[in-house]
Amino acid sequence: MELPRSMEDDFLYWKYHPSGKFTVKTGYYFLTKRQRAEHLDLSLEEHSFVKLIWKLKILPKWKIFLWKLFHDRIVVKRNLAKRGIQVEETCVFCGEDEEDSQHLFRLCNLAKEVWENGSLAICSDSTGFDSLREWIQYYILLFYSEDGKYGTRSTKFIATLWGLWKMRNARSFNGANGGIDLALEFVNLAMREQETFCQNIRESMENRDNSREDSYPPPPGFNSVQLGKDRSGFDDFIVGVDGSWDKRTTRAGIGWVAMGGNNENEVSEGGKYGVATSALHCEAWACLEAMKWAKEKGRQGILILLDSIMLINNLHDQSGKDILISWIAKEIREVGALFQWCTILKVQRDQIQRADEIARKCRTSLSNYM
Ligand SMILES: [Zn+2]
Repeated sequence: MELPRSMEDDFLYWKYHPSGKFTVKTGYYFLTKRQRAEHLDLSLEEHSFVKLIWKLKILPKWKIFLWKLFHDRIVVKRNLAKRGIQVEETCVFCGEDEEDSQHLFRLCNLAKEVWENGSLAICSDSTGFDSLREWIQYYILLFYSEDGKYGTRSTKFIATLWGLWKMRNARSFNGANGGIDLALEFVNLAMREQETFCQNIRESMENRDNSREDSYPPPPGFNSVQLGKDRSGFDDFIVGVDGSWDKRTTRAGIGWVAMGGNNENEVSEGGKYGVATSALHCEAWACLEAMKWAKEKGRQGILILLDSIMLINNLHDQSGKDILISWIAKEIREVGALFQWCTILKVQRDQIQRADEIARKCRTSLSNYM
């Protein structure tokens, strides 16, 4: 920005739009850009740590909680204040220090007591850690490397963080008093909830007569969405789908492929061509057509694999996030509700290569493939 030649009053300026005025679109751009930058900030070690968290057999809400802690997005008072929300910033436990996440989960006297008196007997204010993120990473990796993936110490560690958070909320919002005993009770409660969760996983795997652990899709809320009548299980009729879209001509092609274990005489793939308003719209169309196709074949359930996290995010929200695909998203939900199980799962691109080939072919040759 150039400097004024004469005395001018200061004014607010939004640097992500040429006019200097804030617009929602540029605001969104700024936020996603910042997110991307933060994402790139993660070192290789941190990346593998995030992957490890993903693999742990823990409550889905704990994964989100850890993810938030890791990025310091948890709504402690300090973070609210950073967002410009006026709050009184003192810690609800000790009433002395400022409530930031490092203090609340690690350095506050109550937190220290909880860690020391819990079965892990951790001295939480030991030096050598710059951030809460580093500290959490250290312990989870330590327990994981020593106990393996079925060890309970890493679970207990996460349950303690969760218990502290529950305790903090009980104090802030429900006026709960209690000290260390109540906090430890919250930790125990968390452990019981986790045990029930593991028990349910075991049972549903046994019921489905499917002991292959890696065939179990990730918990809802991450990269999958459940649209069928039964929200807990998933079907083994697996269909990969993909869309191919040309921005210049708006021509679109879609493809779907049933994967594995089908009758050889049965047609197990298909594709169509048409127009779409965006790549996301094209992806949504591919998903919808594959669902209709499975329905016509008399299938009770379907597990759709696709590579668009955006579509999954849109389907999570009942009202839809992206207005441009809200109609087709509504239709996907409606058709999905006709199935007993309808799961849509985000996978890596190479897992749906065949569907991608079909989509491309349909788009460029302007022909349907049935
Ligand atoms: Zn405190």
